[in-house]
Amino acid sequence: MSSDNTITRFAPSPTGLLHAGHAYSALFSKQAAQQKNGRFLLRIEDIDFTRCRTEYEEAIYEDLSWLGIEWETPVRRQSDHLDEYTTATEKLRQGGLAYPCFCTRKDILAEIDQAGAAPHRTGDLLYPGICRDLSADEQQSRMAKGEEFALRLNLGKSLEATGGENLVWHDRQKGPQTARPELLGDAVLARKDIRTSYHLAVVIDDALQQISLVTRGLDLFEATHLHRLLQALLDLPTPEYEHHALIKDEKGSRLAKRKKSPTLRDLRNEGQSAQELINKLIDW
Ligand code: GLU
Repeated sequence: MSSDNTITRFAPSPTGLLHAGHAYSALFSKQAAQQKNGRFLLRIEDIDFTRCRTEYEEAIYEDLSWLGIEWETPVRRQSDHLDEYTTATEKLRQGGLAYPCFCTRKDILAEIDQAGAAPHRTGDLLYPGICRDLSADEQQSRMAKGEEFALRLNLGKSLEATGGENLVWHDRQKGPQTARPELLGDAVLARKDIRTSYHLAVVIDDALQQISLVTRGLDLFEATHLHRLLQALLDLPTPEYEHHALIKDEKGSRLAKRKKSPTLRDLRNEGQSAQELINKLIDW
């Protein structure tokens, strides 16, 4: 079988134990590489020091080994590369494409309430722009007072800078897509506490690791619209994407760490073999 230089990756966050949905995602990515005689990489997305734990990272290695998945070493751990993410956010800030945002969640909700605008999204609300046009003086004086701030994408300026309405990307299941980063609005690129964000780190790492095919769950489909814009802003290549369906439990609801879905460790302790799980996932 010839290789077309396909490189895929599985990029879990060590914020809990993996469940069958993660197993499916990891196997999906591994198989996509194998089909092309390509490479499969594992990346540990551990930027969120408030939630990530070493014991969960160890458990990821244990679970993947149990599933019979091998990966290349050294594994890229995002926490080893925080400076690279800061360099990128600073570049965006200096280019006027990102701005400091001092708002708390409460400020944002109050503003949305006051505007009487029903948020179009549940969960992550679109930012109403409170800090978008603060003067440079006000930004400086609030920073000098030690007020904490996040960095947000200035979506309007970013679209102007890139001709963003015409950016395209390709999903192997859903076909050609025109980027719609407005779905996420002025997204946070650097959180107040961890000074970076999933969105920023993931596009940088996918580029640095030369990932040619990003496979991940459909829950991240909307995020890809923003990632495409970030690639244009940071001069990074755009990989191909394949967003796969999410594994659900018998009641049809999505598996999740926070819902205490059975973990791979639970399944193993109950005596289930990796092959039994894999057979179930294939049938699913
Ligand atoms: N770290 C993300 C997660 O565990 C996955 C990111 C991705 O595949 O792009 O949900």
